[in-house]
Amino acid sequence: MEKDIHKKIVVIGGGNAGCLTALHYGWHSRKNDAISVELIYNPDVKPEPVGQATLVDPPALLYATTRTNWMNNPIHATMKSGILYEGWGKKQDVITNPFPMDRMGMHYCPCEMQELVLKTGLFKVTEGDVDPKDIDADLVFDCRGTPDDISPQNGYRELVNPTNAAILAKPNWNTLECTYSRHVATPDGWTFIIPTHPESPSYEYSVGYCYNSNITSKEDAEKNFLDQFDVEITQHKEYKSYISTKPVDDDGRIFLNGNRLCFLEPLESTGAQIYMDWASVVGESVFLKKNSIEEGVSSLKGYIYQIERYIHWHYQFGSKYDTPFWDYAKSLKLTNYEPNFDKVARWSDETSWDDVMVPEYGGMANIKYGQWSPISFKYWMEGVGYKPPAKTDLSKLWIPQGGEGLDLTGKEVHGDDNSFWKP
Ligand SMILES: Cc1cc2nc3c(=O)[nH]c(=O)nc-3n(C[C@H](O)[C@H](O)[C@H](O)COP(=O)(O)OP(=O)(O)OC[C@H]3O[C@@H](n4cnc5c(N)ncnc54)[C@H](O)[C@@H]3O)c2cc1C
Repeated sequence: MEKDIHKKIVVIGGGNAGCLTALHYGWHSRKNDAISVELIYNPDVKPEPVGQATLVDPPALLYATTRTNWMNNPIHATMKSGILYEGWGKKQDVITNPFPMDRMGMHYCPCEMQELVLKTGLFKVTEGDVDPKDIDADLVFDCRGTPDDISPQNGYRELVNPTNAAILAKPNWNTLECTYSRHVATPDGWTFIIPTHPESPSYEYSVGYCYNSNITSKEDAEKNFLDQFDVEITQHKEYKSYISTKPVDDDGRIFLNGNRLCFLEPLESTGAQIYMDWASVVGESVFLKKNSIEEGVSSLKGYIYQIERYIHWHYQFGSKYDTPFWDYAKSLKLTNYEPNFDKVARWSDETSWDDVMVPEYGGMANIKYGQWSPISFKYWMEGVGYKPPAKTDLSKLWIPQGGEGLDLTGKEVHGDDNSFWKP
């Protein structure tokens, strides 16, 4: 960060988003007295207790800022080596989406993370219930959790997704046997099984039956859940997938993050990574002047629409079940045509495994779509037996920057034909 800028940054909220945002700024400004960071949260409103699975960046940030590691692990984090899809598509029983062997995501409880992060000393912590508009600071991150109203009038747009409810439960078996998140297809949707330490407060919510309450009644979903899994039900949850159409106010001062900014169902565990990426892009705009705030917002929206599309794509191959839920999921259409998806899919298909892995030995190649490298595309396409159409023009393949914040060239292209990439 630039040394000569005096800035006061206030983060409101102590959930996943608030903690990761404050950690990001506290860490990057730790040697710069001209920048102050404060987190204000209401201790009476607990963070969302589900939301435990991450990609590889959040554990790296926690390691740097709190020295949490697999041997010093006060948050009962468990290793996440990738996602195992069970019963998705028609070709294989299981499809893997692994991380490279030298990188780990994690599963953890946001409430335990809050306790740890608030003690780091990297930023000031204040208890209180505040309105972002009343905060006297140069930069405010509004991480107050799910908004009451996600209507267009309130500045939100719904994203396309077939699920809208989850039944959360405590497993009656040892989920620590594996190091990956299990995503199991069911007749009514799919179920996540997160390897969780029994002492973690998230244990009670570590198995989640995601379904659509307009297709399956709560009672039927409960019965089907209990028939298929050995669990004790602890909570019912309704949700919608959405994005804020106005992630920053007109003064360029108040930025939304976390559930205030967007919500996407947890199929690819994208939440924590979005919050970190967005915090980083805002910092690059405000402090490093790498891009304008408008460009940052445009890049964020493109990135979230890519995540919406990538998740949507998974449902298009159905599952081993031919049921009303899966018929509905397959029938859902996205309204924006976004050509980069097809290009990355085709490039991944035409490039050998060796060349997709190189040069970073299985790391994230410099081509990225949303949060995914071509390796993830390749695993999924092989798993479901999908070949991207040959008509895609690879000569204009979009090469994002990868790794360093969000890609500014990932703009949305409007149109209505997205049928070509359906199986
Ligand atoms: C079924 C399900 C599964 C999920 N799985 C995953 C997953 O695997 N990975 C993932 O990354 N995400 C997942 N999520 C999403 C995850 O739960 C949320 O994205 C995440 O918890 C976002 O939290 P947040 O910080 O935005 O809000 P919250 O956790 O709700 O925190 C809000 C904070 O704001 C504070 N606050 C509220 N109002 C005020 C005020 N006026 N003044 C001061 N403080 C205030 C509260 O005290 C609290 O600290 C899942 C969600 C669901 C429903």
